[in-house]
Amino acid sequence: MPVLRTEAIALGRTDYSNSSQIITFYTRDYGKIHTLAKGFKRSSVRSSSKAVDLLTYYQILFIKKEHTSLHTLTEAVLQNNYPILRNDLDKYYRAACMAELVKEFTVENDPCEPLFDIFVNTLDGISTGANAIIRLLFFEIKMLKILGYLPEWGRCVNCKTGIQEMTEVHFNTKEGGVLCRQCHLKCTNGIFVSAGAMLIAERLADVNFQKIERVTIQPSICVEIEKMLRYYIASVLNKGLNSWKYLKVS
Ligand SMILES: [Zn+2]
Repeated sequence: MPVLRTEAIALGRTDYSNSSQIITFYTRDYGKIHTLAKGFKRSSVRSSSKAVDLLTYYQILFIKKEHTSLHTLTEAVLQNNYPILRNDLDKYYRAACMAELVKEFTVENDPCEPLFDIFVNTLDGISTGANAIIRLLFFEIKMLKILGYLPEWGRCVNCKTGIQEMTEVHFNTKEGGVLCRQCHLKCTNGIFVSAGAMLIAERLADVNFQKIERVTIQPSICVEIEKMLRYYIASVLNKGLNSWKYLKVS
């Protein structure tokens, strides 16, 4: 069985026994993996120096099992634990939201370097930079784009009218994107979004990570984009995210 080394972010963990945990990582080279981590659990009696923390960047070694999706973690060397996140609840839940999104939207053993890079860069940006709200929106949109889930939002999915020419913009996940007023009247469900918010969301999909710290967006527009993304993500996943309970949009 091969022993493999890769960069990894810890996404989640569940107890397996008194001293073992199952830790889910998103890795640069192997995508999402589940590992059995024996002796990595931090006990209340004697703290394990090997304990793996969530939302933390490691260089890991693991034994790849052939006939099961549960591999064996043998080493996790800390690269960055983003200490500022641990002292700022809002930043922490935004980072937790990213981890949940990656966990829910990716499948096992399907590597995607662009997503890994933007995940690591955004974790760092939320931790040390300003504009955590815009950075999370940017991550959500980029992740949807990279994984092929980005909806059509530059024009009406039905009649192809551009959003600049619409009197009202509606977003309908069942129809796969934006609808103009006329086409919206023939459909059920959907939410109203301002054309300005839709245009900015569309532009964010094309912004480079290096430029995101210079992007400013009005708070009311951020709220609209976040509401739209939650509506869309919830309909793709068929459920909401736990971290949303701690990140109110209003
Ligand atoms: Zn239309």
